[in-house]
Amino acid sequence: MKTRAALFHGAGRPLEVREIELDEPRHHEVLVRIAAVGICGTDLHVVKGEWDRPKPMVLGHEGAGTVEAIGAAVDSLQPGDKVVLSWAPSCGACADCRRGRPAACIELQRAIAAGTRPDGPTGMSLDGEPVYRGTATGALSELLTVDAGVALPVGDDAPLKHAALLGCAALTGVGAVLFQARPDPGATVLVVGAGGVGLFCVQGARIAGAGAIVCVDPLEARLEQAARIGATSTATPEGLPQTLREVAPDGAVDAVGTPQTTELALRWTRNGGRTVLVGLPAAGERLDLDPAEFVRREKELTGSMYGSEDPRRSLPVLLEHVRSGALELEPLVGPTFALDEVNEAIDASLAGLPGRVIVTP
Ligand SMILES: [Zn+2]
Ligand SMILES: [Zn+2]
Repeated sequence: MKTRAALFHGAGRPLEVREIELDEPRHHEVLVRIAAVGICGTDLHVVKGEWDRPKPMVLGHEGAGTVEAIGAAVDSLQPGDKVVLSWAPSCGACADCRRGRPAACIELQRAIAAGTRPDGPTGMSLDGEPVYRGTATGALSELLTVDAGVALPVGDDAPLKHAALLGCAALTGVGAVLFQARPDPGATVLVVGAGGVGLFCVQGARIAGAGAIVCVDPLEARLEQAARIGATSTATPEGLPQTLREVAPDGAVDAVGTPQTTELALRWTRNGGRTVLVGLPAAGERLDLDPAEFVRREKELTGSMYGSEDPRRSLPVLLEHVRSGALELEPLVGPTFALDEVNEAIDASLAGLPGRVIVTP
């Protein structure tokens, strides 16, 4: 069948929206009409040429839409079901899948690097040549086939435009705090970065019952948004020492993922506290660590991938918080663009303005 999709041809070149060929859903897949896609930091790494990926590639992995057709072996979904896409169509059999971390699945990681699906070719083509999938997904397309196991029912709890954020930023940010940082009730949590994932970390800390949530970001407009959504105090990197004069965070979450932000998060974590690295670094980045942080000060530095939980388990938890009003999606939705305006959407996302940039194919 035909679909229109946004093709990435290389760093520094505009995305091209054009018609491509999409294979029919295989027996275990569903065909989804994509309603909304959030532009994620992962997409920007590829756009900026920081990660090498095969081309042409359909970027986008933070998607939501409506099931349009199902494969012969699918019994969990029906046409018309509203779904959020997880970007972890894992093998289900490797050690990481068995420990409940499909995002770490070796087959998935291979597929992400190769721009394919974990269980085979891309299922997308142009003039007989393969079109590759960003993050094993390729959501910047009007129609998309995905494994039925990664089309997660979302019901009517949120409009699809808001629900798209659940698929990556919310699962990643809220999950990193709830399932990996795990602050004690009343604890002080430092969130480094007030982009899409950072703002969900702030909300995760609020949901976890943190007593104080400090958010640091260089952009004033993003800090204002962090304060509206639950940060009890905010600071620029320069102002952080003053803000933290009286209280050392019990834990810190780095939602950015540069060596500088990770070092900042670790430095300000109190002795014995836990620092969680959430943002993905550019390829080749290295950390310069002082062993005394771990020996003398007994700090713990760990990471969190896709919210440190199987999205099939964590998404229902997040939806529960959406229903109760504890997890807000709408304030985090930024400017919205049509598929034909995808380059404006990428530019808006690169500019780092508040709110997740959304494309509505
Ligand atoms: Zn993402
Ligand atoms: Zn696996």
